[in-house]
Amino acid sequence: MKQFRLFGFWLFPILTVLLFEFFFADFYASRWENLLENTLFALVLLLSLSFFVSAKIKVFFINFYYLIFVLLLFIESVFFYIFNTVFTASAVFILIETNLSEAGEFLKFYLDFPILLFFLIMLGLVFIYIRIPKKHIFKPRSLSIRLLCFGLFLGVLVLLKYSGLIVQNFPYLVIKSTGEYVQEKKKMGQTNIDQPTGHFEEVIHNSPDGKSLYVLILGESTSRNHLGIYGYPRNTTPRLSALQDELLVYKNVISPHTYTIESLKQSLTLHAFKNREESSIVQLMNQAGFKTFWFSNQQPIGPFDSMVTEMAQAADVLEFSNSNRHARNTPYDGVLLDYFEKALGDAAEKKFIVLHLLGTHLDYENRYPKNAAVFTDTPPGKFTDETASVTINHYDNAVHYIDGLIAEVIKKTREEHLSSYVLYLSDHGEEVYQSRYFAGHTLSKATKNMFDIPFVLWRSKIFKENNPIFEENLNAPFVTDDFLQSLADLSQIDFKGIQKEKSIFSENFHPKKRIVGEGVDYEKIRKVRE
Ligand SMILES: [Zn+2]
Repeated sequence: MKQFRLFGFWLFPILTVLLFEFFFADFYASRWENLLENTLFALVLLLSLSFFVSAKIKVFFINFYYLIFVLLLFIESVFFYIFNTVFTASAVFILIETNLSEAGEFLKFYLDFPILLFFLIMLGLVFIYIRIPKKHIFKPRSLSIRLLCFGLFLGVLVLLKYSGLIVQNFPYLVIKSTGEYVQEKKKMGQTNIDQPTGHFEEVIHNSPDGKSLYVLILGESTSRNHLGIYGYPRNTTPRLSALQDELLVYKNVISPHTYTIESLKQSLTLHAFKNREESSIVQLMNQAGFKTFWFSNQQPIGPFDSMVTEMAQAADVLEFSNSNRHARNTPYDGVLLDYFEKALGDAAEKKFIVLHLLGTHLDYENRYPKNAAVFTDTPPGKFTDETASVTINHYDNAVHYIDGLIAEVIKKTREEHLSSYVLYLSDHGEEVYQSRYFAGHTLSKATKNMFDIPFVLWRSKIFKENNPIFEENLNAPFVTDDFLQSLADLSQIDFKGIQKEKSIFSENFHPKKRIVGEGVDYEKIRKVRE
């Protein structure tokens, strides 16, 4: 009985995990493998106690191991509960490149009753276990028994490795994923993506216009299926709708991925970091003779700067509206207007301005001022319970706020009376209780809303007259992994090797099969979740 209390108690957290996942998460077959792996992992920890002779040290380590074991199971299981996937390199990317206030918002957003209950039970188990008297149970063992334990320890390790069960092991996954992350980072570090000039050759700006002002607004987590201008039943975009006659609204544009870094890595570069040499849109505009500005309301956070920050460093002027790395709250995107106006006053002949928004990134509630709330009633759609309604309303209010910001940027650009365009798109979309009961963007729970992005173009009169583009592709299927080609085409920029058939603004545009995420056909996702 005493022996059971010491060793059998290890089964309780394993069973708690099983029950938690069974009742609350999308439980499927491979979770049984995880259960088995958890049990073997516990066995490895317990057998390793045979390394120690002193009962006192054994007691310390068995308590310590129990704490670590329960903690790891908890994190692993909550991660699975939220994202429906095991730990991966992408997860490390997100964790490392997420700043503190984002992490706080993230936790607040996903924290719910099952997680809390799970936490309390696991905490209770640790508390009880540590209080069990153990010292008298550990008797001195003979050398042969200790050797046997050591043999078993090695045996279980080998079993874990060769049965393939190790891929379910959380510490193993963390180490492996971190390794992959570091490799990827190294690959990026070898390019000169943060330098003013990229590897473009024979770059020419072909526009007959002298003074030019080109503006790119990069949104964040905004699905076009929540924009009034795209047919969402709520009028979330009154200001863009009022400008409708001046806009080209592209209705069938998707992002190549559901994560910011993965998506922008493909959208803003020539080769998506698949080549040794890499160049970005900022470098292209620099080489075309533009003065480049990058204003971001996203934080350049993490032990490493994110890849997007590195690209932004190629700009002549780079400003982050919230450089306080540990700020609890990030400012609203409206702060970018001040930077924008300053750039408008800059004397340069040709200007390219990027506004990188925080957009509708969760926690949606923090993306717009309280007094700017418009939607408080029951939202349209099939999920209308309290949680879904409140979340959708926050999201729609955030979209409404962004609508005002984009319209302001267009207004100010128009007032310059130059050869100008304003192009708005989002890095990827977002699911907000529309196709499935979930809010966020994750590849493992992918829905069409996580890929469907707004893509809206405004042009000044002078620009339209002198810089023709093909306007008939409004419904053409497009993925923004070819965005650089389109941006060059729209900007009347030529470079050696430009591929007009990849530009949605070209009459030679040739739509391709849209493979997204880690190799999934977008049409399949669209059909399943529509
Ligand atoms: Zn994003």
